[in-house]
Amino acid sequence: MLEGLDPEQREVAMALHGPVCVLAGAGTGKTRAITHRIAYGVRAGILPPSSVLAVTFTNRAAGEMRGRLRQLGAQGVQARTFHSAALRQLQYFWPKAIGGSLPRLVDRKVQLVADAAAALGTRLDRNELRDVTGEIEWSKVTQTVPTDYPYAAAKAGREAPRDPAEIAHLYAAYEDLKRDRSLIDFEDVLLLTVAVLQDRRDIAEQVRAQYQHFVVDEYQDVSPLQQRLLDLWLGDRDNLCVVGDASQTIYSFTGATPDHLLDFRTRHPGATVVKLVRDYRSTPQVVRLANGLLAQARGRAADHRLELVSQRPPGPEPVHTEYTDEPAEAEGAARRIRELIDAGVPAAEIAVLFRTNSQSETYEQALADAGVPYQLRGAERFFDRPEVRKAGIALRGAARFGGNDSLLDDVVDLPSQVRAVLSGEGWSSEPPAGSGAVRERWESLAALVSLAHDLAAARPGAALADFVAELDERANAQHAPTVQGVTLASLHAAKGLEWDVVFLVGVAEGMLPITYARTDEQVEEERRLLYVGVTRARERLHISWSLSRSPGGRPHRRPSRFLDGLRPGTTATVGPAGTGAGGSVERGAGGGAAPVQRRAQRTPARCRVCGRTLTDAGEMKLMRCEDCPSDMDEGLYERLREWRAVQAG
Ligand code: ATP
Ligand code: MG
Repeated sequence: MLEGLDPEQREVAMALHGPVCVLAGAGTGKTRAITHRIAYGVRAGILPPSSVLAVTFTNRAAGEMRGRLRQLGAQGVQARTFHSAALRQLQYFWPKAIGGSLPRLVDRKVQLVADAAAALGTRLDRNELRDVTGEIEWSKVTQTVPTDYPYAAAKAGREAPRDPAEIAHLYAAYEDLKRDRSLIDFEDVLLLTVAVLQDRRDIAEQVRAQYQHFVVDEYQDVSPLQQRLLDLWLGDRDNLCVVGDASQTIYSFTGATPDHLLDFRTRHPGATVVKLVRDYRSTPQVVRLANGLLAQARGRAADHRLELVSQRPPGPEPVHTEYTDEPAEAEGAARRIRELIDAGVPAAEIAVLFRTNSQSETYEQALADAGVPYQLRGAERFFDRPEVRKAGIALRGAARFGGNDSLLDDVVDLPSQVRAVLSGEGWSSEPPAGSGAVRERWESLAALVSLAHDLAAARPGAALADFVAELDERANAQHAPTVQGVTLASLHAAKGLEWDVVFLVGVAEGMLPITYARTDEQVEEERRLLYVGVTRARERLHISWSLSRSPGGRPHRRPSRFLDGLRPGTTATVGPAGTGAGGSVERGAGGGAAPVQRRAQRTPARCRVCGRTLTDAGEMKLMRCEDCPSDMDEGLYERLREWRAVQAG
């Protein structure tokens, strides 16, 4: 179990009791070390599997960890996201803590916001609806109640899509509507679990009796609410192992800070602290670029940076390419990807990573045109896709009546049954030659078929009803099945993952850093996003940007300031269809004048409860003076009271 670990990783694996903190850069084997630690503890009989709760950041990471643990002979350990662990607990305790059974989860949040807007007589177009939904989500993860939204949004430098007071009303109306329809949303799951555990000592004790050992991956991005949940799980114990990399903090917008990681020893005196620097993931060429980015970083996270030392043989230098416009950039990437696949690189080993989900469409189109299968990660929720919802209805119907239906009598195995139902919905097992959307719909349904194969392999004899139950569970946990193909993902969704070949696209000023990153802190977070992107690559890294958005547009963009001094002095500009029509442009290694950083106007910090001007740094962080009660607790209890009132009729 300890084989395949270096001495420091082994130290982590063997420290099975007491608080442990691993501070290490990307690709140094943090996730591997904690997975082996759990397996070692379980196999040595020191950690009972059912007493371990491992928390990772994404469902994919949780699934991978469960798979690894199975391979290492440590079944039965819970490896989940904070959200899915909380959902399970809430489901279990809801009848006792609140009454009735757990309300359904909102499955179309944007529609619910639209209904709330309609109830208020507010007209919102599609983009505004999406943006307002985003503001509501942000408010909830940062525990901002509707009345506080205008102040909190201004303080956080949010670009409100509407008058902040109006958004506060929409947010309140959304909450009311949700409760009236007896629904809870994704964010409520954490909020309500924390509230129940805080409110009911007996329930908290029951959870603590079940879980004795906690492991948290990607701890640098833990939000205050997640930290609160973790504290409630732990009680007064400290069997906690956390791993993280302050240089990869990229979720500040949820209130996450690397402070929990960096202050771990202060909170847990006597903690074992281990640092890892050997990078097992990337070639020295990729690591050099990653170290170069870190060297320019500023701020608290950067003060704790650890220079990476590559353990891999040399590979190709990262390729930097400048394109005249975005479609040319997408086409260029798709062409190279096609060449790589034709040369034998598996599509699943290639990723295209971008800053904002709105960039994905151009790349989807270009990949579809080049006949390259792809999967989208972290953009649209898989189970919300219309074709998946429709397929779910058909499968549910077939599961219920299948026994009497001749569309299934002759078909014995589960994958064939699923295929038969989907064929009834017009799906064919041959991929269509068509464009992006058609292809994507086909891929979604193909993913359901491969899920049926997975389930049949894991549980021989599984029936259609089991498959439907599996789909429901995954939909609740937003655990999308893997679609074969090139991964298209935002940088945020790519954390913790790795591919042989990574295309980082749109690395231009205005995209990375994104225009609305104004304060120094926000710009630093953008730099960390690029660091996360670069360190996803094992072998080959392609970095590109384009000078204008659309063909024939004014070439007003310049490469990201973060690449200054780190990219080759001469960069070829590639025109439409890879003609090289733009010729070559000479650029000094410095890449032009440094752009002027704009600073957000600072409003004086005031207590959110009494309005007193704050000067103390600690108080300013909380936006609340020490004398005032925490409105977070009030907000949490308010939710509990409301739900109990609903259940009481
Ligand atoms: P990130 O910060 O991106 O989450 P990480 O520190 O969690 O990265 P891992 O994903 O655990 O890193 O490991 C990176 C890669 O290096 C994986 O492919 C892993 O299998 C490999 N690796 C880790 N440790 C070793 C080792 N001691 N020997 C060989 N390969 C290793
Ligand atoms: Mg990791």
